[in-house]
Amino acid sequence: KINIFWFRRDLRLEDNAGLYHALKAGLKVIPVFIFDAEILEKLEDKSDQRVDYIHQALDAINKELESHQSGLKTYYGKPLDTFKKLTGDFEVDTVFCNRDYEPQAIKRDQEVADFLEKSGVKFSDFKDQVIFEKNDILKSDQSPYTVYTPYSKRWRENLGDIEVYPVDFGNFESLEDHKTMLSLNDIGFKKTGIEFTRPSLDKKIIDSYQQYRDFPAMDHTTHLGIALRFGTISVRKCVKFALQHSETWLSELIWREFFMQILFHFPHVVNHCFKKKYEDIPWRNNEEEFKAWCEGKTGYPIVDAGMRELNQTGFMHNRVRMITASFLTKHLLIDWRWGEAYFATKLLDYDLSANNGNWQWAAGCGCDAAPYFRIFNPEEQTKKFDKDWQYIKKWLPGKEIQQPLVEHKFARARALDTYKKALN
Ligand code: FAD
Repeated sequence: KINIFWFRRDLRLEDNAGLYHALKAGLKVIPVFIFDAEILEKLEDKSDQRVDYIHQALDAINKELESHQSGLKTYYGKPLDTFKKLTGDFEVDTVFCNRDYEPQAIKRDQEVADFLEKSGVKFSDFKDQVIFEKNDILKSDQSPYTVYTPYSKRWRENLGDIEVYPVDFGNFESLEDHKTMLSLNDIGFKKTGIEFTRPSLDKKIIDSYQQYRDFPAMDHTTHLGIALRFGTISVRKCVKFALQHSETWLSELIWREFFMQILFHFPHVVNHCFKKKYEDIPWRNNEEEFKAWCEGKTGYPIVDAGMRELNQTGFMHNRVRMITASFLTKHLLIDWRWGEAYFATKLLDYDLSANNGNWQWAAGCGCDAAPYFRIFNPEEQTKKFDKDWQYIKKWLPGKEIQQPLVEHKFARARALDTYKKALN
């Protein structure tokens, strides 16, 4: 008999809770990754950087395992079908993995667990992606928090010692057939040419994070979003580092968990406003204006610079994400779901809970959102956060003069009027 460890969004060997438990369970462990055909088929861009990122992370795991006479087995297909095959090929005692909290992932895991149970195989999942999950942090009346500040207070109060999970390389199954690592080509994708580096905690950035994080030209944030998304870095390691170096950075990691628990407790947010009343807003949804926003051609330099940074790099600075999202929903009165979907195709650090939570925050329809009458003024934001136009000039280098799509004062009044009418 053997045990299986199923990698998903925890693509690292060190400090991996589920893997640690698999390796100490007594039987040899076969590590497995499944390229989920249903997810990959939906991606139109066959040079998607995120798929390359995943592949490079798996390659690194495979190489490390090979140096310990083992290897990673990768499959392409539906997870359920893959487990049907795996349980036919091996005598499996238990499948270990780390928990995932997105509605689709919960459904997938339930199907797999049900099948395994019927086949006499145990399914054992662990908390790894977050410090606190599900009902770990509740209000005194046992209901989930929907406001960040009290949630983060309780989160900090509940934080105890943070565990570190070592890797026992001696307990991996030695795989004779090492050709189990599918190439990008095998799964229908291409290399992007980018060599992603191993994520690390940059003391210089984090120590002065609070001072500089809001100035997009300084690019003074960690860029660890993608690593946290795919688990190439352990969140426990990040939190430990934050505790020693920056309270402000810690609060960002708590925002991440805040939105994850919102998605877990209120899955209707995937397609609907957290606050139901906001479903009545009559979005203008002008397609040409949406296209101009996507292409960075709104005539508002800070908005256009942000969208071009996103289109060219798959990243956008947080301050500018807030400005561009506010502009789309308030100035153009375009449904936040359109913007959310566009960001989802482009962001390397795309994460359903964070993207959805922040879009709803910007549109004013989410939990603990800014009140709808607070509308970002792009010019004022530029004066505060990019006064010398350093960020703008970087992404809009030419002297391309664009006619503004809409005049600020007019757009502000129109947004206020539209929201007010819909909410009354
Ligand atoms: P840092 O500033 O170094 O922060 C560290 C980590 O904390 C981030 O990597 C992220 O995991 C977490 N974090 C920081 N801010 C937030 C936040 N507001 N909400 C949730 N988690 C946070 N973040 C995503 O990870 N994925 C998304 O798809 C995403 N979409 C967004 C959409 C909009 C409209 C807005 C306004 C924000 C969005 N964010 C998203 C939040 C935030 O902008 C990014 O996490 C951050 O810019 C990533 O850069 P960084 O890795 O350098 O983060």
